[in-house]
Amino acid sequence: MKAALLTGIRQIELREVPDPEISKDFDVLIRVGAVGVCGSDIHYYSEGRIGDQVVPYPFIVGHESAGTVEKVGPAVRRLKPGDRVAVDPAIVCGTCDQCLSGRPNTCRRLLYLGTPNQLSGALCERIVMPEKNCFVLPAELTLEDGVLVEPLSIAIHGLKLAGEPAPNTVAVLGAGPIGLSVLLAARAAGVRQVYMTDKIDARTEVARRAGASWAGNPDREDVMERIRSFAPDGLDAVYECCGDQSAFSQAVDLLKPGGRLFIVGIPAGDRISFDIHSLRRKELSLHNVRRQRFCVREAIDLIQNGEVDVRFMATHRFTLENARLAFELAAGYGSGVIRAIVCP
Ligand SMILES: [Zn+2]
Ligand SMILES: [Zn+2]
Repeated sequence: MKAALLTGIRQIELREVPDPEISKDFDVLIRVGAVGVCGSDIHYYSEGRIGDQVVPYPFIVGHESAGTVEKVGPAVRRLKPGDRVAVDPAIVCGTCDQCLSGRPNTCRRLLYLGTPNQLSGALCERIVMPEKNCFVLPAELTLEDGVLVEPLSIAIHGLKLAGEPAPNTVAVLGAGPIGLSVLLAARAAGVRQVYMTDKIDARTEVARRAGASWAGNPDREDVMERIRSFAPDGLDAVYECCGDQSAFSQAVDLLKPGGRLFIVGIPAGDRISFDIHSLRRKELSLHNVRRQRFCVREAIDLIQNGEVDVRFMATHRFTLENARLAFELAAGYGSGVIRAIVCP
């Protein structure tokens, strides 16, 4: 089959690689139809690593994927050839302390699609995944919707971490696909005020159209002053969705005493710093959002019942041959790109 492989920093080559095969009874062979180019893929593409996860070249990335079942293992009962599925990229062991305590997203033996030293990714024609990682898409949903299920499920998980009742006032710093998904999940969860920032005007515009109460560009205006004018007492929660030091600092300033910072973005560097005195005086909580757990079905349902519209996020499409162009576009934030999608 054909695959798009990372072969060096900012290098992708289309190569012929062996077809994957069903090796376990619960495996499913999927013909990949659409793959989203995620921010984490861009870190692997541009920097060759995320923290100590270093890309072993040549390597196939891509974890936001959907496709059509081609073949199923002998123990598969729920799926059949022809079914269209969204793929949950996390293969968990089910037996470690984390899995047993209901935290499969931090499984000790996690194998994640398109992650160095774990699993080869989806930027190829076929992948094999366990049946339980495959979620059937209702007829109304396209394979591209299926790709956008993954970032939405992370956003839903992030909102669940805020608990019940949902916070009233929230800022989302960064209006990329994850930030916008947090906006959609927040709206669906009943959050009344969602303020968003991004350094790209096209994205603040999209955020406004997607339901943000207000959206602004910190390079153009004093976003802190604006948000404070809307919420003088400070915010209940901030979702950091860009990985930028300046956004972490803004979050600490924007939160009310007792407020909570949810960290979703992936910083380019290995360290982020905080003003410890603001953190302790306001007794702020920091909560990292590690991908998601148990939120894929809910993401599909929210899209299906029309509570959430994700389609506007799929802005660009590429063939597998042109995967490099998709990565260049996403890395350069060009042409109003939100999510670039590769269709193998
Ligand atoms: Zn992703
Ligand atoms: Zn586990």
